[in-house]
Amino acid sequence: MKVYDLCCEHGHRFEGWFSSEDDFIAQSAKLQIACPVCGSSTFTKLLSAPRLNLSGARAPTADPHPALAAPWIRIARELMAHTVDVGDRFAEEARRIHYDEAPRRGIRGIATQAECRALAEEGIEVAPLPIPAGLNPH
Ligand SMILES: [Zn+2]
Repeated sequence: MKVYDLCCEHGHRFEGWFSSEDDFIAQSAKLQIACPVCGSSTFTKLLSAPRLNLSGARAPTADPHPALAAPWIRIARELMAHTVDVGDRFAEEARRIHYDEAPRRGIRGIATQAECRALAEEGIEVAPLPIPAGLNPH
């Protein structure tokens, strides 16, 4: 499983999950990867965000819901399957993981813009992701 941190031509950053580098190149060539915010298929590949780069992550199985297979929904579902929801304790947990006070794992949650900025200033990288309504278990 490869996790790439992608940035579209409009500066939106999002995660792409691929079974291999070849899979990434093939999907990218066929314009099957789109920004979850603006839908653009023009993007650059950044260094992976360590927060979400999970070792031992399971390869995705065949999608049982083809109607939901739009790339951004697939990305959201992958993220939700491989991360722990820490709710509004996101900033606190991200910090604890960064300073090795908590087990290293993928987390997702809610953080204010001020919290995200503070994390960035401490060198803790977070990736914004709009979770589609209906996928969120809450
Ligand atoms: Zn975009």
